[in-house]
Amino acid sequence: MSYEFELIDHYFKPLSRPTAQGDLGIGDDGALISVPDGHQSVIVTDTMVESVHYPASTSPRAIGWKLLAVNLSDLAAMGAVPQCYSLAVSLPEARSDWLKAFSAGLGDLAGRYQIPLIGGDTTKSRQTVLTLSAVGHLPKGTAMRRSGAQEGDVVMMSGTLGDGGIGLKAVLAPEEVEFIDPDALEIAVTKLNQPEPRVSLGVALRELATSAIDVSDGLLADLGHVCQASNVSVALELSALPLSEAGRAWVAKKGYALPLTAGDDYELCFTVPKACVNKVQEVAQNLGTTVYAIGEVVEPIEKKVILKRNGKAVAMEEVALQPGYRHF
Ligand code: ADP
Ligand code: MG
Repeated sequence: MSYEFELIDHYFKPLSRPTAQGDLGIGDDGALISVPDGHQSVIVTDTMVESVHYPASTSPRAIGWKLLAVNLSDLAAMGAVPQCYSLAVSLPEARSDWLKAFSAGLGDLAGRYQIPLIGGDTTKSRQTVLTLSAVGHLPKGTAMRRSGAQEGDVVMMSGTLGDGGIGLKAVLAPEEVEFIDPDALEIAVTKLNQPEPRVSLGVALRELATSAIDVSDGLLADLGHVCQASNVSVALELSALPLSEAGRAWVAKKGYALPLTAGDDYELCFTVPKACVNKVQEVAQNLGTTVYAIGEVVEPIEKKVILKRNGKAVAMEEVALQPGYRHF
């Protein structure tokens, strides 16, 4: 038996679970999964590269959690119930302490949703590259898309904006956030490393939202996708953006550019008809998540996000914006 198989058996096999009758997990050339009658599968994939998607200093346990969380966040944005996941790891070396903590981080989050690891691939490479695909399901035809926003809808989001970006500053450039309370920064760093995917909110929104997206590349960039896909514009009210204590301190001193563009927030942003806003707030409350109205869907004109402060248009330059994160 080669070390590769021992490694899979030791660190990854424990994350599998007994599968339903006729299904198959780790061990064969492929996994077999069943889709409940009348349902569709939703499949998402996200890759995390060391020093690109997370600082090299991030604990392996947090890396495992985050790798699954960012995928579950994509499933949540579609409104899917998570079913299982597959994992491809490429590592420069197989360090047992790293693998143990990484797989524990995956297991921490997977355990909450009772989802098994069903397969994957394990290779050696010069750089750490981690790819996870998650499978979810939902009743046929009920997925939330980026394309359903209607003029007159209210734009809403869950949680707070900007903590991922501020947390990243706290890790990589602490001198830039010295003016923020250390406890507030700690909360932002936890959000960066261990985001909470809004899975149950996403499932509940299927019945209520006209469109949804998860905030991973920065709210402006992500809402820009909704504008393009739905053929609308969005008027975003800056004073309504939900901020944590760290976020408020940052905005007071440096403005909105970072919260609007930094990304790594993994909150849901969605549009709902005006008549549904109260219902959405009530449903979210019952799930322990707070949601906020942050803007309005308006006529297309340029199919883009327009910024407002207290109802008055604000020029992009005024908030010193750079575009959202781009790899190329
Ligand atoms: P093959 O050579 O047929 O591609 P592998 O040797 O890559 O098979 O993998 C053997 C089994 O272990 C397969 O069922 C595969 O899905 C599983 N596996 C490999 N790497 C991982 C991993 N990182 N996590 C979970 N399962 C894995
Ligand atoms: Mg293989």
